[in-house]
Amino acid sequence: MQVFCLATVETADVQCKVCGQNYALYFECKSHEERQQALQMVVDTLDQHHAESPESTVHPDKAFNVPAWHGVAHMSGAAILGGAPPWAA
Ligand SMILES: [Zn+2]
Repeated sequence: MQVFCLATVETADVQCKVCGQNYALYFECKSHEERQQALQMVVDTLDQHHAESPESTVHPDKAFNVPAWHGVAHMSGAAILGGAPPWAA
């Protein structure tokens, strides 16, 4: 299960508890249960980003994938199957 997380100022699916950065999420899978698990993974990942600093700059500039994906972020399965917007590229 992979999630594509895109920094946004508009409708957000999740907000960082530490700095308030908003992210829209795009899921590889459509099942509600898996999405809930994936959402929790994203929340945990955002927390981990803040291990060293409370600044919002600890997050990737624009987009990232959970679990970590070493390809181009917007080319991940979650970005493509989840229907990430073209401007995410
Ligand atoms: Zn944050």
